[in-house]
Amino acid sequence: MADITIDEMAVFCKKKGFVYASGEIYGGLSGFFDYGPYGVELKNNIKADWWKFHVQQRDDVVGMDGSIITNPKTWVASGHVASFEDILVECVKCKTRFRGDHLIEDTLKISAEGLKKDDISKLIKQNNIKCPKCKGDLEEPKQFNLMFETNVGPVKSDSSKAYLRPETAQLIFNNFKLVQENARLKLPFGIAQIGKAFRNEISPRDFLFRCREFEQMEIEYFVDPKKTNECPYIDEVMSHKINVYSAEMQQKKQKHKEMTIKEFLKEKIIKTQWHAYWLAVEHRWFISLGVAAEKFRIRQHLPDEKSHYAADTWDLEYEFPFGWKELQGMANRSDFDLKQHILHSKKDLSIFDEETKTKIVPHVIAEPSQGVDRAFLVFMFNAYTQDPKNKDRDWIVLKLHPKLAPIKVGVFPLVNKLEDKAEEVYKQIRKDLPVTYDRSGAIGRRYARADELGIPYCITIDFDTLNDKAVTIRDRDTTEQKRVKIAELKSILSKLINSEIKFKDIK
Ligand SMILES: [Zn+2]
Repeated sequence: MADITIDEMAVFCKKKGFVYASGEIYGGLSGFFDYGPYGVELKNNIKADWWKFHVQQRDDVVGMDGSIITNPKTWVASGHVASFEDILVECVKCKTRFRGDHLIEDTLKISAEGLKKDDISKLIKQNNIKCPKCKGDLEEPKQFNLMFETNVGPVKSDSSKAYLRPETAQLIFNNFKLVQENARLKLPFGIAQIGKAFRNEISPRDFLFRCREFEQMEIEYFVDPKKTNECPYIDEVMSHKINVYSAEMQQKKQKHKEMTIKEFLKEKIIKTQWHAYWLAVEHRWFISLGVAAEKFRIRQHLPDEKSHYAADTWDLEYEFPFGWKELQGMANRSDFDLKQHILHSKKDLSIFDEETKTKIVPHVIAEPSQGVDRAFLVFMFNAYTQDPKNKDRDWIVLKLHPKLAPIKVGVFPLVNKLEDKAEEVYKQIRKDLPVTYDRSGAIGRRYARADELGIPYCITIDFDTLNDKAVTIRDRDTTEQKRVKIAELKSILSKLINSEIKFKDIK
C-alpha cells in the first residue's frame, strides 16, 4: 500500500500514461479526465471482471445498456428534478462558489454530509465563516440542482429540455418490465448495467474520486417483499469476515469491529439477509482482485444522512490516504422507484406471482453499485509499492493483479543480435495476450519500465535460447526467475494470469 497522497497519485497516473486532465492542451476542465493507453486497458479490465463476476457467472442477474439521455419524465418520477441538489455558497466579493457541506467540513473540521440549507446558513453565521480564498462575505446558501441540462432537437425550448443521466439506476427501473419478460426472470433477480453518468458537482476534488463525468457499475436486485430475509445464497457468505461500523458504533464514538456475516445478522445490526449478502459479495470482489481485506469496512448511514428513498443504507468504504471514503452506497430502496414509475407512467410494472396468483411490486433491498473510477483508484493505491531500502529495485512497482494489469507480458532480447528470435516469441504471445516488446537500454532499465506499468511477467531471450528453445521468465512481485520452454510458454502464461498456478509452482 502506498503512502502517497492523492495529488502524487494524479502525477504518477499522468506520467505513466494512465490518466490525464481532460483537454489538457487547453488547461483541462475541472472534474473531467481522459484515460491514456494504460488507463483505458486497466479500466476495461476492471469492467470486464466486474461483469463476469456479477452477471455472466450468475444465473440470477442479466445485463442491459441504457442511453445517456432518456425521456426527461424519468427524472421527474425519480425525484431528481425536484431534489437532486447540493447546497451552494457563493462569495460576494470574488464570486467563487463552494459546496456548503465541504466548506463547513474544511473550515470547522466537522462532518457536514447531509446538512440542510438552514443548518449550513446557521453554522456560517455562528462561526463567522468567510470566503477561504479572499476573506470576503458569503451569500445566503442556495439549493443547486446537480443535473446537466441539454436540449434535444433543433429548437431550444422548455419542451426540448433533457438531462444527461445523473445515475444508471433509473434506466434499469424504467426498462424493468421489458427485461423481466424478455429474459423470463423470476424473483429474486438482478439487472446490471455499466455506463457513464454525469453530475454537475459544485467543487470536484480528490482527482478521480469526485468527478463531473464518471462511470458506474450497477445492479438493481429485486426480491419479493415477503421474502426479504430469505436469501438462498446466504450460506456462501456466513463465515465471511468484514469490518462493521454501525450507526450505533458511530454515535458512541467506537471503532469499527470485525464480524462474520453470521454475527452481523444474529445481532440484528442489519435487518435483511439480502442486504448482508450483497455487502459480503462486493467485499469479496475486491479481495478476489488482490486488494487487502482489512482496508475495507461497511458503514451504516446515520438517520439524518439517509436518502429520501432509503429504508437502510450501508456504504462499502475503503481507507484511502485521504481517509475512509465511500466506494458503494448500498441502499434498501424498497419499492420506491418502481412505484414512482408506475405512478408517473401509468403502466403496470408489477410481476404476476404464479404461486399466490397475485401481482407483486418487487422491492430493491440492495443495489450493489459503484463507480468504475473509484474502483480504479482503489486498485492503483493498493498496487503502488515502493521499497527505498531495496538497492536492486529503487523504482516504483505497480503490483496490480495479473487479471487487471494493462499489459500482461514484456518481451526483451538480451542483445540486438537476438531480435529475430525475440520478435518471433513476441508475435506468438501477441495473438492471445496484451504484450509489449522492449529492446532499448540495459535489461535493468527495461525491468524498471515494466514494473512501473504493472507488467506481471517479463520474458528475456538470451544466447541459450537458440540452443535450448527456452526463455527466462521473471515474476514482477518477487523478481524470481525461471527457465521455461517456448513451446509451453503460452499455456504457462495463461495459467499464471488466471491464478490457476503460482509462479513458484513452475518447474
Ligand atoms: Zn472570495
